[in-house]
Amino acid sequence: MIVLKFGGTSVGSPENIKKVAEIVNSCEEQNIVVLSAMSGVTNTLQNISDLFYLSKFKEAKLEINDLYNKYKSVIQDLFSKKYFLLKADELLSHNHKIMLSFIDSDFTEKGEKLILAQGEIISTNLFQLLMEEIGENSNLISALDFMKTGITGEPEINLIGDSLSKIISERSNVKTLITQGFICKNEYDEIDNLKRGGSDYTASIIGASINCNQIQIWTDIDGMHNNDPRFVDQTFSIDEISFDEAAELAYFGAKILHPKSIIPARDKNIPVLLKNTFKPESKGTLIHNKAKIVNIRAIAAKDKITAIKIKSYRMLMAYGFLKKVFEVFEQNKTSIDMITTSEVAVSLTIDDATAIDKIIQQLKGFGRIEVENDLSIICIAGNLAQNNKGITSAIFNCLENIPIRMISYGGSNYNLSFLVKTTDKTDVLNLLNKGLFPRLEKVKKPVLI
Ligand code: ADP
Ligand code: ASP
Ligand code: MG
Repeated sequence: MIVLKFGGTSVGSPENIKKVAEIVNSCEEQNIVVLSAMSGVTNTLQNISDLFYLSKFKEAKLEINDLYNKYKSVIQDLFSKKYFLLKADELLSHNHKIMLSFIDSDFTEKGEKLILAQGEIISTNLFQLLMEEIGENSNLISALDFMKTGITGEPEINLIGDSLSKIISERSNVKTLITQGFICKNEYDEIDNLKRGGSDYTASIIGASINCNQIQIWTDIDGMHNNDPRFVDQTFSIDEISFDEAAELAYFGAKILHPKSIIPARDKNIPVLLKNTFKPESKGTLIHNKAKIVNIRAIAAKDKITAIKIKSYRMLMAYGFLKKVFEVFEQNKTSIDMITTSEVAVSLTIDDATAIDKIIQQLKGFGRIEVENDLSIICIAGNLAQNNKGITSAIFNCLENIPIRMISYGGSNYNLSFLVKTTDKTDVLNLLNKGLFPRLEKVKKPVLI
């Protein structure tokens, strides 16, 4: 069994959906196909929910109708047989009614979660209809029947594995099982989701829960690049990368992977192959535990970081001080990304500033608090072990004129990260690209490798 996940662009148009069907149907093994919503749809659904929260029902209705019409034109090009076109039309009308049912009502988070789920529900239903039209042996299975999160908000891998194995065993003659990425049921058995970009996480959780042979993430680029292609021109695709390096890069901003998506695969040692839907012949990137060690593998950046500095002379030699600081973050369900300390101050960063006012209020009891916003963490993944001499100087030599706010090194052997102003991010990524991969144009290989 293998798991194949296709992202928003891959299912973003009728032509692309047909490409996905070709890829899936050329796969010899029994497979589970995980689909995202068509590109842009989850953003639209979020806008509609935001309008409902503001009781802007007229505007919400306009957006709902626009989306409905967009889908209507998709199905015209997707299906050639009248029977399937009618089936798809019924599906869209049903979905349209669900969306309109929120007009003139009190909108709650439950409604928002239901609306956000519609993108994946539509794309998977349309794909199943297409597979039926072309005569392929497939079944649609609802992620809501097995993808379950617990009290911590995290997926219950064992429960998921039990439910999914049962579903699969009942369909042992079916070659392709199609399901939704992103959506799940939470601890209260309500519809919920795994946060934006969560379909990668779905694929990895499914793969790990049933111990599949390989997880394939199909997207719009030839695998993991050595740097962020949205901000750096000269990037290249990496052939292979270790689980640990990929996990660091995903967590610290490499958008190609959801931040947590590598963890379940790493825990079960299941290789993850990143592939390009629009260039299936390209090799892509293999994430596995046998990747050859290199000095610098890749660079990523994570935005919207807030730094908090707590200055206190009481900190000097006071055991228990950090514990109390951490408890404030724990109470406010806010996780800390980076931390540095000096004798009289501690600086840390968070990426979710929702509870910042409460956090500051509570921290004020410990000393003077300074807060800085609009920062980015730059993450360098590779062989950052202490015995790899010269690696840190090679990195910082590239950044002579860039003010650096914090540095985190030694936490793991695979990562060095530092904090800069977001306005400096593009310069930093480009300087590092030039400095650490200088012969890029000629050899397409990092100079330090
Ligand atoms: P999907 O909709 O298939 O999940 P995403 O847009 O979430 O696709 O992720 C793919 C995008 O990630 C690429 O188009 C690219 O712009 C961006 N990206 C950011 N960093 C990297 C990186 N290091 N390697 C490859 N792609 C990256
Ligand atoms: N459709 C969801 C999103 O846009 C999940 C995903 O595409 O991975 O965030
Ligand atoms: Mg994605």
